[in-house]
Amino acid sequence: MADVKITFPDGAVKEYPVGVTPLEIAEGISKSLAKKAVSGKLNGEYVGMHDGISADGDFALITKSDEEGLKLLRHSVSHLLAQALKRLYPNMHFGVGPAIDNGFYYDTDNADGNQISVEQFPEIEAMMKKIVEENLPIVSREISRAEALEMFSDDPFKVELINDLPADERITIAVQGEHIELDRGGLVPSTGWIKFFKLTSVAGAYWRGKSENQMLQRIYGTAFWNKDDLEAELQRREEAKERDHRRIGADMDLFFTSQEVGAGLPVWLPNGAAIRRTLERYIVDRELQKGYQHVYTPIMSNLNLYKTSGHWDHYQEDMFPPMDMGDGEMLELRPMNCPSHIQVYKHVPRSYRELPLRIAELGMMHRYEKSGALTGLARVREMTLNDGHTFVTLDQIEDEFKQILDLMIDVYADFNISDYRFRLSYRDPENTEKYFDDDVMWESSQAMLKKAMDDMGLDYFEAEGEAAFYGPKLDVQIKTALGGEETLSTIQLDFLLPEKFDLEYVGADGEKHRPVMLHRGVISTMERFTAYLTEMYKGAFPTWLAPRQVRVIPVNREAHAAYAHEIVDHLVDNNFRADFDGRNEKLGYLIRDAAKDRVPYTLVIGDEEVENRSVTVRRFGSTDTAVMTLDEFYTALNADVANYSRV
Ligand code: ATP
Ligand code: ZN
Repeated sequence: MADVKITFPDGAVKEYPVGVTPLEIAEGISKSLAKKAVSGKLNGEYVGMHDGISADGDFALITKSDEEGLKLLRHSVSHLLAQALKRLYPNMHFGVGPAIDNGFYYDTDNADGNQISVEQFPEIEAMMKKIVEENLPIVSREISRAEALEMFSDDPFKVELINDLPADERITIAVQGEHIELDRGGLVPSTGWIKFFKLTSVAGAYWRGKSENQMLQRIYGTAFWNKDDLEAELQRREEAKERDHRRIGADMDLFFTSQEVGAGLPVWLPNGAAIRRTLERYIVDRELQKGYQHVYTPIMSNLNLYKTSGHWDHYQEDMFPPMDMGDGEMLELRPMNCPSHIQVYKHVPRSYRELPLRIAELGMMHRYEKSGALTGLARVREMTLNDGHTFVTLDQIEDEFKQILDLMIDVYADFNISDYRFRLSYRDPENTEKYFDDDVMWESSQAMLKKAMDDMGLDYFEAEGEAAFYGPKLDVQIKTALGGEETLSTIQLDFLLPEKFDLEYVGADGEKHRPVMLHRGVISTMERFTAYLTEMYKGAFPTWLAPRQVRVIPVNREAHAAYAHEIVDHLVDNNFRADFDGRNEKLGYLIRDAAKDRVPYTLVIGDEEVENRSVTVRRFGSTDTAVMTLDEFYTALNADVANYSRV
């Protein structure tokens, strides 16, 4: 019998008889490997553990410990879900069912008309478990297009998928018992391999993601190789749900979005606005202390500004379409503030004596984010960035960079943000499309950032392909409540825009020179930062940020109202956010409601308090109360807000 030549990932080459299966190869290496191998992969294509290999090639075993192995499991569970659904609801039609980050989904349409809801999940999961017990072998094979069309003739979505395959494409199916899937392979050997899974949610999804198409039901689930991992993930999701800023935002009346206003255009309610106003005042004050000059520039400008800057060429997809004013002028909602600040710089001739020149603004920008990416306040289409641009000489770059970084670190401490890491974002040298083409500029500026970080003794990691078009940057990556990572602050080095806008300053030598620009954002957009803080604090904002800082509740609405009002008035006069709750409800109810609003201080006023000019204070999150005189309370409150980071 002829042999096939198998090349392993480490370069070793071995010969096997034609028809050898990945399982046999694995067993030849070790028993334990054979046990955890999920699938083979020959020349980049999956080969089932029981399928014969008849060609030479590069070969790898995908095991349970590989990330790819987990993906194969999840993909297999999506098939299992489809099989169970088909048994329960024979007229179910199916779109696509891929593995995704953290799980899988399947797009479905019950042709009987009944929608699937989470109430049916236990029944569906029970059927899935039954099929697992049947331990049906999962076998892939190639079929002709005609056979495929015949096989899936009762499912219009699958027929559409088959018809869209290029004429020369091989069509393969995966069969498990009575169930057939259109599939490229890469599945566990049998249904018995699937043990730990859970259906998690169901949502609407347009067929093929196009809003003109039919709305299908996307059923989500997750799966793991062992029970502990599954439980940990379910627990993590539960916590994430509790922290979700959209949920807390609704609970605390912080903001809303609506189709009437437009997707991704949040409305800040008084409570959210109080947080935002506090953030804005805070960061502007901080920046004024550091020598920034705050300006206001228009949120729209002549389109030519963005043609000069290069945004129109490189960033158009994310921009709103220009407005044709009908008089020859095209106006554009700005996606970034840099060109506006450059105009401030250019307004008068600049001398080296003015540098570093620091221009800052709470700049409103508009970006046409994809509708699927919009998330509460975290990703929106209208946003206000804590933006700033400093213009420096070549010699000043490093020092300015360090100063900005110092500011960031101080600000983080004020918010008690400690779970972050620094990322030096470099260009991808292979990708000349995405990055401004100037090797010398990139190499020297990347080295400069690295040196500054090393000098400051800060830990960082490096990421290729994360730079801005015009230069390298330092990003501060924060952990989100959902376990992901996002950029919060950023410092970006830019040699290009000064060139494009022909920026100059007169040097000590009397000659004209080109400044360098640093783009920087400290607390990001008001939107994203508020979303982030809401999740980090779980809505329990520190007192200085809390939308409602003090709530005063009279035990008796008549007898204690005057004193209660006196306290509220005094606090409001002194710029605290205090309110009075004299609703005709039980005291316990009002106290619980104050906790739901996460009010840091709830004051209860009864006879004794009126008599002694005292207050009974309940701190959010604690069931203990403390009695203090009114003056003692005011002193404690002032001390609390004077100390930013206290949570
Ligand atoms: P992302 O990768 O998140 O889309 P970006 O790299 O385009 O952001 P920049 O142009 O550097 O971001 O914008 C500055 C900051 O504005 C980002 O670090 C981010 O925190 C915030 N931001 C960007 N896009 C949005 C958005 N759609 N909604 C809210 N905040 C945003
Ligand atoms: Zn900028």
